[in-house]
Amino acid sequence: MHSTIENLKREVFARNAGEPEFHQAVAEVLDSLGPVLERHPEYLEQDIVQRLCEPERQIIFRVPWVDSNGKININRGFRVEYNSALGPYKGGLRFHPSVNLSIVKFLGFEQIFKNALTGLPIGGGKGGSDFDPRGRSDRDIMAFCQSFMVELSRHIGEYTDVPAGDIGVGGREIGYLFGQYKRIQNRFEAGVLTGKGLSWGGSLVRPEATGYGTIFFAREMFRTRNESFEGKTVSVSGSGNVAIYAIEKAQQLGAKVVTASDSSGVVHDPDGIDLELLKQVKLTERARIREYADRRSSRVEFHETLSDLWRVPVDVALPCATENELDEASARALIENGVQVVAEGANMPCTADAATLLRESDSVLFGPAKAVNAGGVATSALEMQQNASRDSWSFEYTETRLDEIMVSVHDVCRKTAADYGSEGDYVLGANIAGFTKVVEAMIAQGVV
Ligand code: NDP
Repeated sequence: MHSTIENLKREVFARNAGEPEFHQAVAEVLDSLGPVLERHPEYLEQDIVQRLCEPERQIIFRVPWVDSNGKININRGFRVEYNSALGPYKGGLRFHPSVNLSIVKFLGFEQIFKNALTGLPIGGGKGGSDFDPRGRSDRDIMAFCQSFMVELSRHIGEYTDVPAGDIGVGGREIGYLFGQYKRIQNRFEAGVLTGKGLSWGGSLVRPEATGYGTIFFAREMFRTRNESFEGKTVSVSGSGNVAIYAIEKAQQLGAKVVTASDSSGVVHDPDGIDLELLKQVKLTERARIREYADRRSSRVEFHETLSDLWRVPVDVALPCATENELDEASARALIENGVQVVAEGANMPCTADAATLLRESDSVLFGPAKAVNAGGVATSALEMQQNASRDSWSFEYTETRLDEIMVSVHDVCRKTAADYGSEGDYVLGANIAGFTKVVEAMIAQGVV
């Protein structure tokens, strides 16, 4: 079986040359599949792995727009509609200068399994642009979003493909995108995007969902050791949507969060992060994180080296910024300092070597992104349910639904890992559970 999987990987890598992030995501899933392919030889007969690795559709387009200085800008837009076996393509849009086809494909591929794990009827997709929103005026952001939507609008729809936010795309961007879609289509199609504002079809808890869900998942991991967040010290990286709400929920559960970061540096606050100040600096003012250190207290340390964050001794580490931000040396430092739980709030934040080290450590519980951060897309699916029934649920009800979904994702991962003789291996459990659900649906639907 090992050689079969190596051959499958080689085939996918050759077909998608020069896409390292995509290769990393594919390898992580395929390396888990040995036991399931042995149990289900029909999957190999159906060439299901090759079919799964090939996106159903990949769209790349020019995004021309004029900024407030009258300068013409050309960006590149992407939407990879990866797999629709379980429902309409669903996954976020990322605006960041690093965005390219490899990154969008890795994110889209991960999204297939993540969405399957939620148990909700959503397929997998992802998109974005190499547009850099940092330092741009509201007017520039709107001009870019409107041009981006002119092309994207041809490909999306509530039954086809339902984008949401990701890095660089929050409530403001979703607003501009939705407004332009509505204008082009002359339809108030609430279900076409998620992450909308509350008064025009958005769902309570959607902004908090990925961060809260990350903590609910980590809480369940702790529970398997009869432990909880109460009194624990936590490091979080990032200070965007996922990080901020992971900090909020960890604090609500009685933990002390001592770090946050952005792409310019890390703050270590031994007294515990002042969340109101962090929200003011990062969400309201969109300033650099150094501002937090300058305004908070003399005990706060600021480090320009991002990996310094993982040298802080903690019980729980939550990488919530971006891919490959936690390398092998950082994983080793965390283990040596006694970390008990590492849960990936961001997508693929651990390098392959770091993930292997953490997964194989007896003392650490390691939760992979596709399970841990599934709360965001799950609540997007709850937003779609509210849009379809023209309903609007309370915060408490929606948060309870999110919590139940995260408990169920956790339990499915654990049970599947145990069923395949790898108790406690969340990576194997998440990959096999997500894979099985999607390929069963693909096989039932024939060769399409
Ligand atoms: P945001 O744009 O809100 O925040 C991203 C944070 O990460 C910012 O603090 C940003 O710093 C930092 N960051 C971005 N790129 C880098 C980099 N190259 N190096 C260091 N720091 C970086 O994004 P989100 O919080 O929405 O997303 C964070 C992660 O979570 C991503 O991996 C995303 O794919 C994943 N995710 C998000 C979901 C969601 O619902 N939003 C759902 C599931 C996963 P700066 O301010 O300097 O740019």
